[in-house]
Amino acid sequence: MRESNWSDLVSKIEEYNKIYIYGFGITGKWLQSQLKKTGKVVSFIESDNKKVGFEFNGTKVQSYEEFITSPEKNNIDKSLLLNTVVDIHDVWDKANKLNFTTQIPLGIYLNNHELTDIGEETKDFVGYTMKAVKESHSSYFIEKGIFLRSIDILVTERCSMKCQDCSNLMQYYIKPQNIENQTIIREIEEILSKIDHLFEIRLIGGEPFVNPNIYEMIAYATNLKKVSYVVIYTNATIKLSKEKLLSHNINFNKLSFSITDYGDKLSRQINQVTGILDDLKIPFRAHLPEWWTDSGRIINIERSEEELKDLFKNCCGKNLFTLTDNKLYRCPFAANADRLNGIPKDERNYVDINESIEKIVDYIGDIDYIPACKYCKGRSWDTPQIEPAIQTRKPLVYDKY
Ligand code: SF4
Ligand code: SF4
Repeated sequence: MRESNWSDLVSKIEEYNKIYIYGFGITGKWLQSQLKKTGKVVSFIESDNKKVGFEFNGTKVQSYEEFITSPEKNNIDKSLLLNTVVDIHDVWDKANKLNFTTQIPLGIYLNNHELTDIGEETKDFVGYTMKAVKESHSSYFIEKGIFLRSIDILVTERCSMKCQDCSNLMQYYIKPQNIENQTIIREIEEILSKIDHLFEIRLIGGEPFVNPNIYEMIAYATNLKKVSYVVIYTNATIKLSKEKLLSHNINFNKLSFSITDYGDKLSRQINQVTGILDDLKIPFRAHLPEWWTDSGRIINIERSEEELKDLFKNCCGKNLFTLTDNKLYRCPFAANADRLNGIPKDERNYVDINESIEKIVDYIGDIDYIPACKYCKGRSWDTPQIEPAIQTRKPLVYDKY
């Protein structure tokens, strides 16, 4: 495969009678809005059952499992499947099993295309999301070196809230601490020396703005050449300092915010924070707490090898790579459970970032599961939702190893 222009894909589409779109994310919706006029778009196909049954612009979402057993699957001659999923390595082979005439990764055609607002998402945010798809697909299908979509960087264990079901396990820290910038920088330099491109650094906590050194960290991260974007995950409980944002050498072109709005009583600074971001034209996405599941518990569940593989395969957190303590973990659960000594020590839970490139590539690739999964309820697409952000006054108790 090679990179092509959007217009090449539009010409190619003429060869097909029907079009299906894999992935009901922002990129999938953008694609539907571009192709609707062809009259060929039949449906979205999704592995995430939470999205099944929705529709966008008149096109419905059907589940992968239903489609594979439906009579419709025997009627897909001259049909094209356009794959829009950013974690393409997770779904490409699975989607091939649907036996469409052709499957195409949209990302390699995302050149010279037109951006539009999609629903409530602004053109800027749509462009940012589609760039992740483009870079991920190009790196998977075209030899471009070692690419990672995102790394979560834990800048603090402290949070201005204490949600009893925090999936990052902040509710278990008894004396939470900020992490020193020097330590974080040393670790980022090491991992970046082993890979060619990191699409996104996500500065997370706890609440990143509890750490007074966060502005220096933002400046450092937004000026890294190998990194395309830096996203700050905040709960809008702490005021943003416009002066500090302006007085540090921050590259605003790479910066965006993801704000969880927990309502007036908790996210008290939401208007102050979004006001400053608007003033400085820093893109942000403010949203209500979404899709909370019961995944914030450290427990010990007897599971067979097959069950562990299944849990990992269906986990939406398994590609949330998290960097801390010189180790790269598959997910924030494993990283924090290990820091808390809430799971038995096991070197298969992470890869040491001082290891060889081969070992790092093996760990970030297709693995069956990590031992930490045995202590986790998992974050599968169909896990039931729970009430978000119930606060606990005291840290939760857990068994230490
Ligand atoms: S706001 Fe709640 S969910 Fe978010 S990091 Fe803090 S404790 Fe965790
Ligand atoms: S199931 Fe495994 S990969 Fe998924 S969040 Fe839990 S520990 Fe991480």
